[in-house]
Amino acid sequence: MIWNPGIETMARAEMEALQLHRLKRLAAILETCVPWCREQMEARKVGPRDIRALEDIARFPCCSKYDLRDNYPFGLLARPMRDVVRIHSSSGTTGKPVVAAYTQSDINLWTEVMARSLTACGVGQGDIIQNAYGYGLFTGGLGVHYGGERVGATVIPISGGNSKRQMMLLSDIGATVLTCTPSYALHLAEIGQAEGFDVKGLNLKVGIFGAEPWTEGIRQEIEAAYPLEAYDIYGLTEIIGPGVGIECRYHDGLHIFEDVFYPEIIDPDTLEPIPEGAEGELVITTLTKEAFPLLRFRTRDICSLTREPCRCGRTLCRISRIKGRTDDMLIIRGVNVFPSQIEEVLMNVEGTAPHYQLVLMKEGSLDVLEVRIEVQESIFSDQMRRLERLERAIREELFTVLGLTAQVRLVEPRTIARSEGKAQRIVDMRQKG
Ligand code: ADP
Ligand code: ZN
Repeated sequence: MIWNPGIETMARAEMEALQLHRLKRLAAILETCVPWCREQMEARKVGPRDIRALEDIARFPCCSKYDLRDNYPFGLLARPMRDVVRIHSSSGTTGKPVVAAYTQSDINLWTEVMARSLTACGVGQGDIIQNAYGYGLFTGGLGVHYGGERVGATVIPISGGNSKRQMMLLSDIGATVLTCTPSYALHLAEIGQAEGFDVKGLNLKVGIFGAEPWTEGIRQEIEAAYPLEAYDIYGLTEIIGPGVGIECRYHDGLHIFEDVFYPEIIDPDTLEPIPEGAEGELVITTLTKEAFPLLRFRTRDICSLTREPCRCGRTLCRISRIKGRTDDMLIIRGVNVFPSQIEEVLMNVEGTAPHYQLVLMKEGSLDVLEVRIEVQESIFSDQMRRLERLERAIREELFTVLGLTAQVRLVEPRTIARSEGKAQRIVDMRQKG
């Protein structure tokens, strides 16, 4: 099923014409209504009149979360505050968070892209969504909520946390859809099993997981624990929240709703465009947003993009699974790795559990990475020799696949902290020593 076939299966030439029209309009609005954007354009000596083809977008400067912070909270608003009906905010790990503002039409747009997303996962009327994304300033909860109601599903706004109650409701009300972060889905399954629930026998058909990077290995773990098919959903507060991109039933990349979120892939160092199919940083332009429109926002997320048609019938371009954020990339003795690449290796090793943590330490002037990973109960209670063998196997696999020298520490089941939202995979102890 496709929610908006007119848009989602639109011929490429027609889509590009629509994007171009909207891009020109956006540049004109930014020039008129947002002084900071006007200054940026003047400094670059470009303006709305320079846009003749979509490629001309590359002549405009990018903006980043730093620019958003410099203009905190409302310096980049393109509409007066009285038109704003909602405020959200990203978690803001360092310094000031980013606040996003929405007009009623922005909320409608968000509801539309979430309706398209849920439909792509086969969710609609008759479904019951247990929405375990956090409600509040975080966009996850309310994003799924509005989209769920729009497609006519029943939404249970349980929000994150309180896992025993989550399990009780899952089994009593019999939700068909579970929405939360992939790490929380695993945690919840674990609690359910420990509490004696028949997790595999739940009524769930679909899981929609996102807000953090995850790998195929984690998908398999989740699908083995529950009777559901797992879909990857992508989004970010600055652009709108969840619903920027979604997998279809072919799980071959995430469709981007490019009629409203125009994607580019650039080299994060040179800022030059990257050819189709190659990896780089995803940059997004919001083509129709009113309160908080962004031209060429650098997401920091690393992926590739393809415009190859998809078997589902959508002509919307697709991005690959997000590998990680540029700011999460680790450089260990000269080797650049994303936590997700380490996760991929770990998930392929027999005997480990899908819970791990990457601890960065200093030994003298050298950065040292310790990979802590839980092992299955049966292995832990086994002989020391078996543990040592497993440790060595993981160390060697990390070296063979990633060229990474790491210390490996196997830890007991359920000793690594679980998260109810986004998992904290990296523990950086380098400042403290
Ligand atoms: P914060 O930046 O504080 O985490 P958000 O909640 O807006 O704020 O998170 C957006 C970010 O979450 C994205 O830029 C991306 O790094 C990550 N993210 C969201 N969905 C996914 C996904 N499906 N796969 C990988 N990463 C994701
Ligand atoms: Zn598809």
